[in-house]
Amino acid sequence: MKVNQAEIVISAVSKKQYPNDGFPEIALAGRSNVGKSSFINKMIQRKSLARTSSKPGKTQTLNFYKINESFFFVDVPGYGYAKVSKKEREAWGRMMEEYFQERETLRATVLLIDLRHPPTEDDIIMYDFLKHFDIPVLVVATKLDKVKKAKRDKHIKVVREALDLESEDHLVAFSAETGEGKDQAWRHLSEFIS
Ligand code: GDP
Repeated sequence: MKVNQAEIVISAVSKKQYPNDGFPEIALAGRSNVGKSSFINKMIQRKSLARTSSKPGKTQTLNFYKINESFFFVDVPGYGYAKVSKKEREAWGRMMEEYFQERETLRATVLLIDLRHPPTEDDIIMYDFLKHFDIPVLVVATKLDKVKKAKRDKHIKVVREALDLESEDHLVAFSAETGEGKDQAWRHLSEFIS
């Protein structure tokens, strides 16, 4: 995929603000610090369009990035902060449910998992939540460059097994540092938006 154009269209706090031009959407979800912003920036060849490492307690928004005037990346607020309040957690849950349950233009979700560690309980809940709504998932296992080559296959297997990945859902090992996995990720995502 050659990305010629990418811009943030809106940081939405409620569904009234979601774009309504009907373009297909790919959502991106993952634990805070997993490398989600780095993934988005690498995929669209921008240094810092997606903000990296947003702090907990800030307003949680769904960020819509319009790509090539033809589809959206929708950056979902990260989960798994130890310090968020119950109120914030509930607000996050409502926003997720509303979006994933109702959004007709949503085609698939990229679920980012840190390849260095086994998936967390939150990661597994997120995968099950997406499957509950029948949403196709592409698992992107991040920070590939941080895992020794000899150990990569083993780590990938741990991720697959912990999530109990369905056969139609693919996994791509990815590094925002080296760009490994980028073409493969685009190949899978292109199928959802074509
Ligand atoms: P986010 O909170 O999920 O958006 O995570 P960020 O994209 O801000 O990344 C969190 C930290 O991990 C930053 O310090 C990034 O530089 C680092 N990081 C993200 N992806 C990679 C990667 O593929 N390789 C390495 N070595 N570091 C990464």
